[in-house]
Amino acid sequence: MAVSDVARIDWRHEADVVVIGSGAAGLPAAIAARECGASVIMVEAEDDIGGHAITSGGNVPLGGGNAAQRAHGIDDSPDLMFRDLTDWSVVESNGFPDYRYNDHEIIRAFCDHAATTHDFLLKHGVAFIDQAPDARGGNAVGNSVPREMHCAAMDWPLVQTGKPADPAVRATTSTGNGLMRPLEASARRLGVQILLRHRMIALHRESPRSGRVRGIAVQTDAGVIDIFAHKAVIIATGGSTGNVNFRRMFDPRLTEEYCGLSGMPWSDQDASGEIAAMEIGASLWGLYNQMGEFGYSVTKPSAVGCQYNYQNLRWRPGSRVFHKARAIGLTVGDWQNVITVNMQGLRFYDETGRGFTTNNYNSINPYVQGDWRNAENVRYKANNWLNAAMAGIGDGKNGGGPIWAIFDAAACEREGWVAEPPHVDYAAGFCFRAESLAALAESIVMPHQRVPMPPENLEATVARYNAFVDSGVDEDFGKPKPLYKISTPPFHAAWATPVIHDTRAGLRINAHCQVVDLSGRVIPGLYCGGESSGGFSQHGLARATCQGYIAGRHAMSES
Ligand SMILES: Cc1cc2nc3c(=O)[nH]c(=O)nc-3n(C[C@H](O)[C@H](O)[C@H](O)COP(=O)(O)OP(=O)(O)OC[C@H]3O[C@@H](n4cnc5c(N)ncnc54)[C@H](O)[C@@H]3O)c2cc1C
Repeated sequence: MAVSDVARIDWRHEADVVVIGSGAAGLPAAIAARECGASVIMVEAEDDIGGHAITSGGNVPLGGGNAAQRAHGIDDSPDLMFRDLTDWSVVESNGFPDYRYNDHEIIRAFCDHAATTHDFLLKHGVAFIDQAPDARGGNAVGNSVPREMHCAAMDWPLVQTGKPADPAVRATTSTGNGLMRPLEASARRLGVQILLRHRMIALHRESPRSGRVRGIAVQTDAGVIDIFAHKAVIIATGGSTGNVNFRRMFDPRLTEEYCGLSGMPWSDQDASGEIAAMEIGASLWGLYNQMGEFGYSVTKPSAVGCQYNYQNLRWRPGSRVFHKARAIGLTVGDWQNVITVNMQGLRFYDETGRGFTTNNYNSINPYVQGDWRNAENVRYKANNWLNAAMAGIGDGKNGGGPIWAIFDAAACEREGWVAEPPHVDYAAGFCFRAESLAALAESIVMPHQRVPMPPENLEATVARYNAFVDSGVDEDFGKPKPLYKISTPPFHAAWATPVIHDTRAGLRINAHCQVVDLSGRVIPGLYCGGESSGGFSQHGLARATCQGYIAGRHAMSES
């Protein structure tokens, strides 16, 4: 949509602050602005709130010397956390640095507000599991001290199952439901107006490259409407990894077959916030952080046979989005039970190989902040299953194509798998079954399988692998002592394609979360936080909630 003449717009709604997106950044932004006295409208594209945050594990690394850390004798501070999150010397075993390209202004703001954000979440009903902060779920949270706290499920129905957690574990189960439902309740209680099924499609600025942002255009079921913002618009749209063309600016390999984005099908990350802001002159920022091979930017799936197979998310039939997810997936307990092959039916890597690693508390031990020995002491390990899976087949096209886990009936026995719906998705082409390997290869027909799998390839691959089981040595990829032959029909080919997860590059912001343009100037009246913002390489909830809090509070200072 073209940038419009704001003077002639027939505004349907108005508020002091308009927040786009109701996830980990959006809800805190809305509440914080409301607490400062603003009238607030929050638009959400989906038919429920929460975004990826509500599907998340609820592990929140807000350190900085917060009340929970102090209560358990953990000696953290904004300064310690700042030095951790800007430490040039921390690298992963594949050589990629976690923190080297972070924007110091943005990290400083996070560190200075992290403990306050923790208090803010508590005040608005979030119950953290009553235990010392630890390292569980930590992903680029700094090496020096434990910072992860965990949101308790309590009695909130879980979006994954449609039911609350078992009462016996409600206070000890960590989940994003326990973060987002209390925040939603608090926002509604305070009078934040939440408009569901309202998708922002454009920002209105006084002129295309200058002046204040005055509001947004929104697609609703009844057509396009416009919402006026007296003070500010806050973009909290969750990132860009669901937009194929956008994500391919960072990595040309990430073509259409990577269709199992984590957090889907609850919500997407379609880059709508980034694109709308770029259309009025916004800059992107911290682009290395999207390309670096660390953390969850792309993940190895932990389940096979369904489209949405992100390692920390299983959809169950009671979920309100199960009709979109279609299958639960078969969780792989032991990658010895399968081989993974590409579109041509060829193995490409040791199946037990890991995805990218990430820095966490104690990952480097001993550790001295900024010491050259930290990088020197890291032992190189490629962790290349993902890169091999995305390498492609040499046909001149980008993208690795579908990756298939091949297994037999004996593997189902060992894993306790029931390779039937609702566990696997035969109907949409994410799982296939046949009585022979040749028939299995021929049966694999689905939109992303761009070449037929030659039956003779799959037969030869399995025969060679079975020989490795006999000899105990994987001569091709060094899989540690291959254990099980694939020989008992029926045989299965189950979707095991990498999953795209984090957005770690996005709009350029400053310490107040104000969006900055290509000349380095603030765009008046426009803010951004969470995965749609750039300059901060960290997984998830802490930076999103904290930046939402910062943006919401600062937005009210706009005149
Ligand atoms: C399965 C899973 C587990 C995770 N576990 C953890 C964890 O344990 N710890 C951790 O720190 N992080 C975790 N994360 C990551 C964390 O959830 C995200 O980083 C965080 O939610 C990002 O917050 P956000 O506000 O930027 O985006 P989101 O929370 O995704 O919210 C964005 C919202 O904006 C809406 N939206 C998008 N475009 C528009 C538009 N044009 N108009 C209106 N609305 C729009 C979306 O529908 C969505 O509701 C996990 C993520 C997933 C998917």
